[in-house]
Amino acid sequence: MKCVYCGQTRTQVIDSRPGREGNHIRRRRSCPGCGRRFTTFEQPGEKGPVVVKRDGRLEPFNRDKMLAALRKACAKLPISETRLDRLVGQMESRIQRHQYRRLRSETIGDWVAAALKELHPVAYIRYTMVHRHIEDLETLRELVSEGFEGE
Ligand SMILES: [Zn+2]
Repeated sequence: MKCVYCGQTRTQVIDSRPGREGNHIRRRRSCPGCGRRFTTFEQPGEKGPVVVKRDGRLEPFNRDKMLAALRKACAKLPISETRLDRLVGQMESRIQRHQYRRLRSETIGDWVAAALKELHPVAYIRYTMVHRHIEDLETLRELVSEGFEGE
């Protein structure tokens, strides 16, 4: 989405919520070029890519859902709400920039997992357990050693 002030093409989404009538998405964006902020009203599925769920259902990207999953993964860890919010913003920008209109939810999950790995091994392990539906001990052991590698 272009900056309305300076025309810079890469702007960051800082907030995103459904519009009052529910048929559009209201996005608050910030421009790294001129530092100004502006609001856009976008049609879901028109500009933003559609997320393809594991069971094949399609849905627009949901920032709140991602934030909730991150909060769960980072519970009681020394990671601030601001940091999580910024991470969601980064993911959202990445999703928006994606050239393919349909994105698998697994792909997005992998991006989040990679970002969490940099942040905290425990957050990474918790998130990946849910994301990859890990239930057996052997796979969990592998995941833990993966999370802590290089520590
Ligand atoms: Zn600008």
